[in-house]
Amino acid sequence: MAENVQATTTMEKIVSLAKRRGFVFPSSDIYGGLNSCWDYGPLGVELKNNVKRAWWRSIVQFRDDMVGLDSSILMHPKVWEASGHVSGFTDPLVDCKQCRQRFRADHLEGDKCPECGGELTEARQFNLMFKTFLGPVEESAAVVYLRPETAQGIFVNFLNVLNSTRMKVPFGIAQIGKSFRNEITPGNFTFRTREFEQMEIEYFVRPGTDEEIYEQWIKDRYQWYIELGMNPERLRIRPHESDELAHYARACSDVEYYFPMGWSELEGIANRTDFDLRQHSEFSGNKLEYFDPSTNEHFVPYVIEPSAGADRATLAFLLDAYHEEPDKDEVRVVLRFHPALAPYKVAVLPLSKKEPLLGKAHEIWKSLRRHWLVDFDESKSIGRRYRRQDEIGTPYCVTVDFQSLEDNQVTIRDRDTMEQERISIDELEVYLREKLGF
Ligand SMILES: [Zn+2]
Repeated sequence: MAENVQATTTMEKIVSLAKRRGFVFPSSDIYGGLNSCWDYGPLGVELKNNVKRAWWRSIVQFRDDMVGLDSSILMHPKVWEASGHVSGFTDPLVDCKQCRQRFRADHLEGDKCPECGGELTEARQFNLMFKTFLGPVEESAAVVYLRPETAQGIFVNFLNVLNSTRMKVPFGIAQIGKSFRNEITPGNFTFRTREFEQMEIEYFVRPGTDEEIYEQWIKDRYQWYIELGMNPERLRIRPHESDELAHYARACSDVEYYFPMGWSELEGIANRTDFDLRQHSEFSGNKLEYFDPSTNEHFVPYVIEPSAGADRATLAFLLDAYHEEPDKDEVRVVLRFHPALAPYKVAVLPLSKKEPLLGKAHEIWKSLRRHWLVDFDESKSIGRRYRRQDEIGTPYCVTVDFQSLEDNQVTIRDRDTMEQERISIDELEVYLREKLGF
């Protein structure tokens, strides 16, 4: 199947649309940008928030075995000793002696610079954690790191959550938050960046049940993307080979999406065993255990970790939604977002800027905005306005015309079918609620 997969479009087209329509801008744009840093614009922040909301809803709101957390980005430096990041979170780095560019040694073929053919230095290990200082003194005792993953914030709160809730193993803790990795070679738009947002779950289970629960999480997480409209042909599960596994992981599988640069990781689901809780028990001196009252025994749970990238998921949903269709002599660009992800759910379009039609349209806009993010567009022809909404993925347009003043009805246009129907303004909210609900 993999050979026949087609990307929806090129990354260049998406980068251009994203900037033109306000999804994603280069960071510090007026200063020429900052390498691989990006800002989410007015539509991008809505899209990404909707992705995160859909994840939280499915993971925390819909499940009785999950709770949420929002831990701080700066953590005790010992956390990163216990987790293995201080000693082991490194990439092999080489420099070109001629053009001074830096590369990941494990990404190079051959022993020459891929840019200029120059000679390369010996590889040295480069730690990917961003280092800074806590407080006004720049000394080694004050060194802290920007977290390279949100997971550790969950592990160090294992006892706090256990003691403050009535959770029983198996249960999980979910967290969405920023992480930082000083990648040697970031790239592919928002796919690999040095500052990024994660959506992570640590799911604590009784040893022995871990394999079955790991398999279930892989299925559940794959299904989440499908339910939000992702094309199954561009989504696959890839189990890691044993030589790809981290030393503590018993198994790992990636949910991959077919990006324009090929199959790439959207999310990893790992069986981390009891590695993290044992490490933190040892380094902190606190016993990170679970007491099972039904069997009267203490044990250290195993952990299944589904770890997704909010930026990657947002990019994948954006790419997957992109469609170009012939439309008479032109091309219609339409983002076929699932309604839950679309930045605007509805656009209200008055046919004329004259009163009392404009006032009536404003009234409808105002009442719908209590429930959804609703755009209002009164400029240019109605055809042009439909195209503008198609291009940003708005599922429904509500057109208010002169007849609306007489019969209290409006025209609703469907983004995907382009079909139009006439309905009463009094039924508008119920109609949209039905169409937009999920
Ligand atoms: Zn070079």
